[in-house]
Amino acid sequence: MAYDGLDLKGKAVLVTGGNSGIGLGMADAMAAAGADVAIWGMKPERNAEAAARLQRHGRKVHAAICDVSDEAAVEREMAATLKALGRLDACFANAGVSGRGGPHKIFSEMTTAEWHRVTRVHIDGTFFTFRAATRIMLNQGSGSLVATGSAFGIFGHPWVEHYAASKAAVASLARCLAVELGPHGIRANTIVPGYVDTPLTNARIHSAEFTADMMPRQAVPRWGVPEDFGGIAVYLASDASRWTTGATFVIDGGFTVAAKVAPREG
Ligand code: NDP
Repeated sequence: MAYDGLDLKGKAVLVTGGNSGIGLGMADAMAAAGADVAIWGMKPERNAEAAARLQRHGRKVHAAICDVSDEAAVEREMAATLKALGRLDACFANAGVSGRGGPHKIFSEMTTAEWHRVTRVHIDGTFFTFRAATRIMLNQGSGSLVATGSAFGIFGHPWVEHYAASKAAVASLARCLAVELGPHGIRANTIVPGYVDTPLTNARIHSAEFTADMMPRQAVPRWGVPEDFGGIAVYLASDASRWTTGATFVIDGGFTVAAKVAPREG
């Protein structure tokens, strides 16, 4: 008899930032596993392209324009998502922006606007999204919340304090929610990606200098691709993960466990 713990038929999931990169990789795998899927993004053309790809799986697909840093927009779109899908079994707060791009050369010069450009999407956006999702899940008596963190939320890294601190914050938020909402049938976990080839990173990770410097730390010697996140998304949306909560899943091809290795003597 086949194992059906990972079957998502009858389940409905939301992925913010689901029209691109890691979010689309997760949404695509969950639709293939049988879930009805909602994706939120900001760019209409990306939403349309992603929706067409997801529809190949024959499930319900709802694509919405929603800025997750806008509290009213999140409330409005969560209600529209519930109306479109009928329920909400898993909510992936994955929308994110790069920590690069600020004009500062050192932390003392980081502007308040630059700090908020990143923290509003990651911290406020995850808070607004999870809060709205939790109301639905409390009514249902079940649900799975999943934050997208980052290896930068573990490492200290210069120049991207806003990015790194906000990714550590969402992992902490998920742990707190795991404890508070577990008795209500709601689980909360964090996925921590390493370097993944997406529109967010590809200009940088394909530079020769970056590759020469960083690739030696990849135990699996390649950058990640969005499809590498399909399995964990299906698992966390499924009944197979019913006792998994408060956990952090580092998916990085071994990058964070690799020490810089000194040459072997002798
Ligand atoms: P992409 O640029 O491919 O995807 C980012 C997604 O977030 C897009 O769908 C984008 O939609 C959406 N988005 C951005 N701002 C908002 C907003 N204000 N409201 C709603 N949606 C928004 O990048 P990735 O797939 O790489 O990033 C996904 C997540 O993974 C992010 O949280 C990122 O920080 C994290 N991450 C990525 C790593 C990597 O190496 N790629 C490493 C570690 C973490 P649109 O384009 O329509 O605006």
